[in-house]
Amino acid sequence: MSRVSFEQFQVQRAEFINQEENRALGSDVVLNEDEQKVNSHIMKLKKAELDVGFKTPRDFTPARHFFQALDKIKASPLFQLIQKMPKGAILHAHDTAIGSMETIVKATHKDHLWQNGDFDRPDPPKFQFSKSKPNPLNGSEWRSVAAIRREIGNEGYNNNIRNLFSLYHADPVNAYQCINQIWGTFSNIFISLEPIVTYKPVWEEYFYQSLEELYADNVSYLEFRGVLPPVYDLENHTYGPEEIVQIYYDLSEKFKKTHPDFIGVKFIYAPHRLGDDDAFKGYMDIAESLHKKFPAFVAGFDLVGQEDLGRPHVDFNERLLKMSPAIQFFFHAGETNWNYGTDENLIDAILLGTKRIGHGFAAIKHPRVLEEIKKRNICIELNPISNQVLKLVDDFRNHPGSYYFSDNYPVVISSDDPAFWCASPLSHDFYIAFLGLASARQDLRLLKKLALNSIEYSAMSKAEKVEAKHKWNIAWNNFIDQTIKSIAE
Ligand SMILES: [Zn+2]
Repeated sequence: MSRVSFEQFQVQRAEFINQEENRALGSDVVLNEDEQKVNSHIMKLKKAELDVGFKTPRDFTPARHFFQALDKIKASPLFQLIQKMPKGAILHAHDTAIGSMETIVKATHKDHLWQNGDFDRPDPPKFQFSKSKPNPLNGSEWRSVAAIRREIGNEGYNNNIRNLFSLYHADPVNAYQCINQIWGTFSNIFISLEPIVTYKPVWEEYFYQSLEELYADNVSYLEFRGVLPPVYDLENHTYGPEEIVQIYYDLSEKFKKTHPDFIGVKFIYAPHRLGDDDAFKGYMDIAESLHKKFPAFVAGFDLVGQEDLGRPHVDFNERLLKMSPAIQFFFHAGETNWNYGTDENLIDAILLGTKRIGHGFAAIKHPRVLEEIKKRNICIELNPISNQVLKLVDDFRNHPGSYYFSDNYPVVISSDDPAFWCASPLSHDFYIAFLGLASARQDLRLLKKLALNSIEYSAMSKAEKVEAKHKWNIAWNNFIDQTIKSIAE
């Protein structure tokens, strides 16, 4: 076999790179003249961060733990530009972890809040809103939060609340040694937060404020998961699943009226996968009744909780197959590092006809799963920061989303529980995905594709998608114009 000439080699090499680029997510997007100007600018910003990383890999933001890069990201011109970009939708986020915990800090100033226990881990305090002092808990007396505030001062109390409802740690690598440990703390946050956030006035404020925050982060549509915990008030009234979804629906409509360019909200009922068979039967009944009562607002069904320790899908498949076919599935699956263990949930999710897959972190190890994802056009909801904080990956460059990007898999970027790791509703995940998961060559076309995918793979009807794309286009063109102006200044 003779060798090719250097000229031929160079041609082959250029073709090779071209073929790889043409397979990547976003390569089919055609940029107009103005978009190309913005693209040059954004690629300059991206290159600057890549160059620093190449010289000193420790300083490359996606190579570090997110908690240790927060200040650096805040100062990044690339991040600031991504914040301004209309990013479309969040398709994977959880009810009480979207809006920042400042709303909860504010809520702890309300009257009638009681606390039992100190701000210690791993056994966090319990909270309860009640007109009168609740009965002692295992012999321990409740104290009014107002009295504790007087004792330790507002600043001290507020900081305790912030620390309690966040996974943030200055030394996260040593503080969280394994996935089960951090999932324990993570689940405790939800449990401890529940009696504060489910007090009806707080429930309403928190959800509405979450919408305000994602709107401010240039996200204009939300499809969120919720477990529908009982909501309560001071008159001992408890609100059930249908009443809670009605609250969500009414607040979403109110928000749309005051923010006409906002696209909307849909809800995915997602109870805990730890429940026993009786509980699971109850969940299915709730899913059926919600679907009947809110056919357009309730998008479908999912299960939440740590997959490695929760019940596997095989426990539920037979019953899930009996659910009304009109109820769509949006299963979390493959949020694990195990190979042929928990990750088999991916196979179940696909065979059950899931519309999207939450995380799909382990899908990269399953060629048949990957084939079906493309064949059935199942969208993978990537949540990169969540995967790092919850200990599936250390360096974002090793995230499997990198592969999904490189071979045009149907994916969206989402944020899971951004409030618990001090992230913005979506911009931080977009920034990490663009800089850490995407190749150095992937450009504005990828970002535009991710925003468009978030509308395309949503549960909106065809007509809703047309309107959503129209609204998003206006916002996008405005962003392009504004960016060109700012570059010229
Ligand atoms: Zn999730």
